[in-house]
Amino acid sequence: MSTVVAVDGPSGSGKSSVSREVARRLGLAYLDTGAMYRAATWWCLDQGVPLTDGAAVAAAVRELPLVVGVDPAAPTVVVDGRDVGAAIRTTEVSSQVSAVATNLDARAELGRRQRAIIDAERTGGWSGGRGVVAEGRDITTVVAPDADVRVLLTADEAARLARRARELHGTDDAAAIAATHDQVVRRDADDSTVVDFRVAADGVVTVDSSHLDLPQTVDAVLGVVARTVAPPA
Ligand code: C5P
Repeated sequence: MSTVVAVDGPSGSGKSSVSREVARRLGLAYLDTGAMYRAATWWCLDQGVPLTDGAAVAAAVRELPLVVGVDPAAPTVVVDGRDVGAAIRTTEVSSQVSAVATNLDARAELGRRQRAIIDAERTGGWSGGRGVVAEGRDITTVVAPDADVRVLLTADEAARLARRARELHGTDDAAAIAATHDQVVRRDADDSTVVDFRVAADGVVTVDSSHLDLPQTVDAVLGVVARTVAPPA
């Protein structure tokens, strides 16, 4: 029997690190859907597609030659044969990814590909049919509303800003927090115009990580999984 775990949440909620570790501990595949939006943005920039031209962005995303590796120990993102794992994390991509994320045609295309990956892991794929932890903004509501376990990982704004500042600048002093504002607060405000990832939909369990460290948050999500799906015999 396969297990699909869907995790949504805002920037800095810890959903990537938490989802990846939960997948590793349960032997499930790990799908980082944000990486797919980032890869699409990187591709548009690389191909000289103006991000202000919605039709051109949608066309580029339909043709996006993307291969995503779902091993939680070493997730990979390859576009047109190039490993873009590092390139998609630059400030240039982070500051422009909302242009792709708010394009409804691009969302439909990436959502279709995400569902195909999740479906493949239910019966085979990297996990051999054990299943997948998929994380993003609309996984519990749009991409996999039928997931076995659905979690909204939240944290208050101060905690999210501090986490991202430490990740990006190695410190959470006032200057680092100010420099991180665009990547957390502005980006989530833009993104939430097309997907609601701040309030848990019916049947979605909220885990608030504001006062939890990474291992504690992983334990909290593993607890939700254990309570929701019958433990393996
Ligand atoms: O999670 P991460 O910061 O890598 O996501 C990058 C961006 O991708 C988000 O800011 C959001 O614009 C977009 N995204 C999305 N839907 C998802 C996952 C990510 O719109 N399911």
